[in-house]
Amino acid sequence: MSVEHREHAASGARMASAAAGHEPAGLDRGAPAARAPRVSELFLSLQGEGPAAGTPAHFVRLQGCDVGCRWCDTKYAWDAGGGREVLADGLWEEARALGDAPLLVVTGGEPLQHPDLVVLLRAALGRWPRVEVETSGILPPPLSHPHLAWNVSPKLPSATPRWAETWAHARAWLAEPNATFKIVVGDPPDLEDALRLIGEHALPPARVLLMPEGVTGEALRARAAILAEACKRHGFRLSPRLQIWLWGARRGV
Ligand code: SF4
Repeated sequence: MSVEHREHAASGARMASAAAGHEPAGLDRGAPAARAPRVSELFLSLQGEGPAAGTPAHFVRLQGCDVGCRWCDTKYAWDAGGGREVLADGLWEEARALGDAPLLVVTGGEPLQHPDLVVLLRAALGRWPRVEVETSGILPPPLSHPHLAWNVSPKLPSATPRWAETWAHARAWLAEPNATFKIVVGDPPDLEDALRLIGEHALPPARVLLMPEGVTGEALRARAAILAEACKRHGFRLSPRLQIWLWGARRGV
């Protein structure tokens, strides 16, 4: 590790610690530097979805995804060669320049398809008290860490012809203690499929969140009202999409 890298790591950890008021456990300043990832966007916002919804967070959106969801609202991140190459140290510098946050969300695209995801995550875990990864679960969990949470979003048959591949590693994801399952649900046939797949894969209700599909406040509200009833019946949680409710379907929020 270069002197410069050590300084970045130390100052990044200070930023995270200041935000959280404590030094993160498992601090990994000795992690090797990741190869330059291709990044679609980097921004500071609130985590809009999942168990940590409402938490101020840096977002790093990695390029590359071939899962092909019909309703994907980040199709600009599908091309693995798109976006821009950012040296890992440059990534932390850019995030720091945006302000402090106690959470880093690594999203995509499909982060699991990033060739150097584990190295990137190990480095990030030395800089933020908590890191979350948004993934379809199309590959098994590559890393477990007490401060690393996986927001796994296996797909329903209406979303993509590859939906079954995103459930193929459900057992491995269940064995990862920091994984929760965020199922994106559209119209009523989706809800039936979601309930069937949750049952077939024996997902514990406490680890399941249902999230309405939609890119307008009206669509989200209508679907969330239906999902709320299913959550009450089955013991799931309801995930918002705060970024849509607050800012609409825009990039960088
Ligand atoms: S897995 Fe995520 S990024 Fe990939 S197509 Fe589906 S919604 Fe979009």
